[in-house]
Amino acid sequence: MNVRPSPKLRLCSGCELTTGAKSHCPRCGTALFDRRPNSLQYSWALLITAAILLFPANTLPITQFTNQGLTTYDTIYSGIVSLVDNEMPAIAVIVFTASVAVPIAKVIGLTLILLTIQRQWPLSKTRLTRYFHIIEFIGRWSMLDLFVISIVASLINMGQLLHAKPAPAATYFALVILLTQLAAKCLDPRLLWDLEKKPHHD
Ligand SMILES: [Zn+2]
Repeated sequence: MNVRPSPKLRLCSGCELTTGAKSHCPRCGTALFDRRPNSLQYSWALLITAAILLFPANTLPITQFTNQGLTTYDTIYSGIVSLVDNEMPAIAVIVFTASVAVPIAKVIGLTLILLTIQRQWPLSKTRLTRYFHIIEFIGRWSMLDLFVISIVASLINMGQLLHAKPAPAATYFALVILLTQLAAKCLDPRLLWDLEKKPHHD
């Protein structure tokens, strides 16, 4: 890692008080660090686990339908295809965005940020920081696909002959979302700016 002089001031993550280089916040008692300890290691561990879980999430069945004793399974892709076939393209787009595009974009984006910090890649820090905030922001919407699945399942269950419920991939999806969100939470974005030799003014 790059060598960085210890700053004279520290920011409290609990109450946002800027204080001297003390070990604890004088106002709320939160432990203070120049940078979150082991931020990169935690972030990598969570991100790699999330990336591995993307495979069962995308290949295992996500919904299970039972119609007159006959059970059929849908993966996320066959689900999207049947939504399009059943003339529900808007829901298909929501499911594709929330289930496929967003989790993959989050894993790729976080990998890019972590590699930039670790390998000191000369990428735009401003752009990566913006991307990091977008990742954090979309996190709160990423349970949308599970929400769609539960709504579709309960709508289908109203027509009593067909019974729908979530299958294993739904759990993996929830874990991917949770782990990518935690990986973003563990990462100290200030590490990106430590790569700059001179103080940055934008
Ligand atoms: Zn504080």
